[in-house]
Amino acid sequence: MKRLPEHLQGIGMTSQRTRDRLVQRLQEEGIHNLQVLDVMRHTPRHIFVDEALASRAYEDTALPIGHGQTISQPYVVARMTAALLESGPLDRVLEVGTGSGYQAAIIAPLAGEVYSVERIRPLLEQARRRLAELQLRNVRLKHSDGSWGWPEFAPYDAIIATAAPEQVPEALLQQLAPGGRLVMPVGPQGVQELVLLTRTAEGIERQVLDRVSFVPMLGGTR
Ligand code: SAH
Repeated sequence: MKRLPEHLQGIGMTSQRTRDRLVQRLQEEGIHNLQVLDVMRHTPRHIFVDEALASRAYEDTALPIGHGQTISQPYVVARMTAALLESGPLDRVLEVGTGSGYQAAIIAPLAGEVYSVERIRPLLEQARRRLAELQLRNVRLKHSDGSWGWPEFAPYDAIIATAAPEQVPEALLQQLAPGGRLVMPVGPQGVQELVLLTRTAEGIERQVLDRVSFVPMLGGTR
């Protein structure tokens, strides 16, 4: 990947050395996909959080992004992205829950086209500015309730949701291409599982990857 322009590089706690250290840690924790590690090494997470939190951007934790929402933990971002890539290169990817835009920025260089929907308008507009700053032109954003997916561009090779519904929305399964993969947290707060669903010729195959803690998937927009 190309070097970041000077003004996005960061210094001290947001420097390249700090990003390198985070990636090293992800590797030690079992993330082995080199493409994912490379993109995370070269994506400035500190521009996806408020300036007051920038110095904590390369800790391996979720951080608040306002409106009661959080930017996902780097390990979980890496894990979910790697799970989607296991079946090979991705053409069209749908994300439910744009939030800060960080997860979309990680998938964008690894996919043909990324479609991401967010129900909270101010978050969506902020993510739009950040993705433009990074010149990621293959991400399309929409303000809507993502539990209905984004039918217009379906089917998707991969679907990722970064908010947890109690059950996998039927619409998302319907918009999954043959052989496609869907990774998302499912379940009530406190007892969520990260599941990987694959559409095979026989039907939907389900695998549990981890126990996780995500914000809930909510209906409607605001
Ligand atoms: N991928 C984000 C994670 C943000 S947290 C990031 O990297 O920062 C999850 C996001 O999902 C929140 O912004 C929340 O508003 C959004 N969300 C919750 N339910 C949703 C729904 N039904 N449709 C679209 N977005 C939803």
